[in-house]
Amino acid sequence: MTIIRSHGTVTIASERCKGCELCIPACPPGVLHMSSARNGLGFRYPLLSPGCTGCRACLLVCPDFCFEVYRYETPLEHEVSA
Ligand code: SF4
Ligand code: SF4
Repeated sequence: MTIIRSHGTVTIASERCKGCELCIPACPPGVLHMSSARNGLGFRYPLLSPGCTGCRACLLVCPDFCFEVYRYETPLEHEVSA
């Protein structure tokens, strides 16, 4: 078992995502990945895995303003299978 800490989290307005994937490489810890499902516009959209740092890079890069970013005062710990 591995412990991953999240110092922040994001909300993703997946219904207006255009599937450009700019947010995926922009995320420094690499905790965003594209869904296999598609939204009502027909595009895949990002999903968040544990380990967000709250750095706001996704918010700054997204042309469709899909992200809101929040930082935790106390980091959340997630147990994940190694
Ligand atoms: S706030 Fe930073 S770490 Fe969190 S999902 Fe966005 S780019 Fe990744
Ligand atoms: S950058 Fe924005 S529009 Fe592009 S895939 Fe990510 S959430 Fe969707």
